[in-house]
Amino acid sequence: MADVTDPRPGIADRLSRMIRLPTVSAELEERGTAPFEEFVALLAELYPLVHEHLDLERHTDFGLLFHWSGREAQGGTDGAVEGPVVLMAHYDVVPVDESDDWTYPPFDGVIADGVVYGRGALDDKGPLIVVLEAVENLLADGFVPARDVYLSFGGNEETYGRAAEEIARVLRERGIVPWLVVDEGGAVVDAPLPFVPGRAAMIGVGEKGVMTLTLSARGTGGHASAPPSLTAVRRVARAVDRLGPGTFRPRPSKAVGRMLTRLGSHTPGPAGQLLRLLGAAPLLTGRLFAALGGEAAALVRTTVAPTMQSGGTAANVLPSQASATVNLRIALGETTQQTVLRVRRRIRDPLVTVRVEEASEPSPESATDNAQFALLADALAVSHPGVPAVPYVMMAATDSRHLHRFAPAVYRFAPLDMSNAQRASIHGVDESVEIVALERGERFHRALLERLG
Ligand SMILES: [Zn+2]
Repeated sequence: MADVTDPRPGIADRLSRMIRLPTVSAELEERGTAPFEEFVALLAELYPLVHEHLDLERHTDFGLLFHWSGREAQGGTDGAVEGPVVLMAHYDVVPVDESDDWTYPPFDGVIADGVVYGRGALDDKGPLIVVLEAVENLLADGFVPARDVYLSFGGNEETYGRAAEEIARVLRERGIVPWLVVDEGGAVVDAPLPFVPGRAAMIGVGEKGVMTLTLSARGTGGHASAPPSLTAVRRVARAVDRLGPGTFRPRPSKAVGRMLTRLGSHTPGPAGQLLRLLGAAPLLTGRLFAALGGEAAALVRTTVAPTMQSGGTAANVLPSQASATVNLRIALGETTQQTVLRVRRRIRDPLVTVRVEEASEPSPESATDNAQFALLADALAVSHPGVPAVPYVMMAATDSRHLHRFAPAVYRFAPLDMSNAQRASIHGVDESVEIVALERGERFHRALLERLG
């Protein structure tokens, strides 16, 4: 396919201007909606062709939905295909901890030594800008995509806001079933597993569910000098203790096996053999990863993290109540309902009340043997030659989960190179992206949009 466009220069300056608008969704009360409105206005200024050729709808205060009509809708007969592509990102960012020491101020958008610094550089204004740049560059060439394309940008992803949920609802109501959805998630990373060298494009094919439970118990109160064997505090502590790491059995999703197989085929020597072996043996993988603990264990099972605990009112008074908060990340293939039942069974105490505070189901798992995944790999071959596309399961939630309920092919991947230090800077200190990484990211989306036929 002809590569006709020269990308417009100045991508780093445009990202810098986006970073300078502090769209901190968690600080909406203090900062007001002005940064968000200014961001929407900035997009109109920076992307004139996008705003001329695509329709923009706003859903809720923070959801932007651009629609680019494909060849069929524009009356052509050449290569008309069903089902649009939805490219997602979010333009809100997380707060900056005042006590953190940044090399450059987080909202100055400093460009130094080929790097753009600032909150949102990677999460998620960098991934957002490479989508817009690709579309603007293609429009400058008079390009028309073979399918309809939607750009869906939310302004409250970091606060679990409703913008993306509402956009998903609107698409569904209109009978629009996306053929492909791409949102934030994985990236082009170094050494994806500790013993796997080289770079890989990690593509999230699913995301775990999230659930928060409150465990509580009541007591009779009274003086602490003659306590019963089980006070409310002890009862809740025992319940928490019974929810150890082994509460949920390992259950590796297909994606984990596919990840290991794919990584194994790109890893030389015994490490590669081991990965391929594990990729073909889910039970063994489940047991091994569970035993490794930490991130490896989280890949293969539902995790339980007690996060808060409280009870009682005075040092010498028996507590009349106690409670604990437990945060769970639910493995693919399980449900919130099964999870609550399992928790109750493990606690084995009818006097401990289990209340569900919030719950979202794990996503389904997108395929990797379909045309959509092949398209991602093809685009990657243009933007990042030689880097394998490797499926994995995300632990964190993304806006795309709202679409995954009815769109089968949802992938969580930002086509940006991220070093391990850069990955650690997400939600942390010195968040930054290399300008060449942005240029490659633009190339990825352009290659993807050129190949929708
Ligand atoms: Zn994000």
